[in-house]
Amino acid sequence: MKANSYEIVKTYMGRIPYDSDLLEQINSFCIENNIKCGMANIIGAVKQAKIGYYSQYKQSYKTLEGENLTGGLEIVSCTGNISIKDSKSFAHLHIILSNSEGIAFGGHLMPGTIVYAGEFIIQEFKGPDLVRSIDETTKLPLWTL
Ligand code: ZN
Repeated sequence: MKANSYEIVKTYMGRIPYDSDLLEQINSFCIENNIKCGMANIIGAVKQAKIGYYSQYKQSYKTLEGENLTGGLEIVSCTGNISIKDSKSFAHLHIILSNSEGIAFGGHLMPGTIVYAGEFIIQEFKGPDLVRSIDETTKLPLWTL
């Protein structure tokens, strides 16, 4: 395993606006605040969600949406990292959502997840740039270390 070493330089805590796109908000916040490396943690609720499942067989994302992911869901956990992709800040987030029965669904957070209420904590790290590029084996944009 390869890894870089980082120090936490700043911690942000804030609220995500009603009716906004969760992934877009986190990415915009990172770009506006020049956060190139860090981690994010979000809880709250969404009106609807779009989550991805990466098919290792097809080597592409399948988008999950619709009946199970509409009508209001709790964000049980949404966590991930911030690094650089295509020369700009990029948040890679995974999310677990639960419905009125407490049944959970989860996956890779996609655009189209609309916030009802959201609270975030973002920690900015100082250290070497971590840049994503397409990995030949998995066809995923992975870190180049
Ligand atoms: Zn993912």
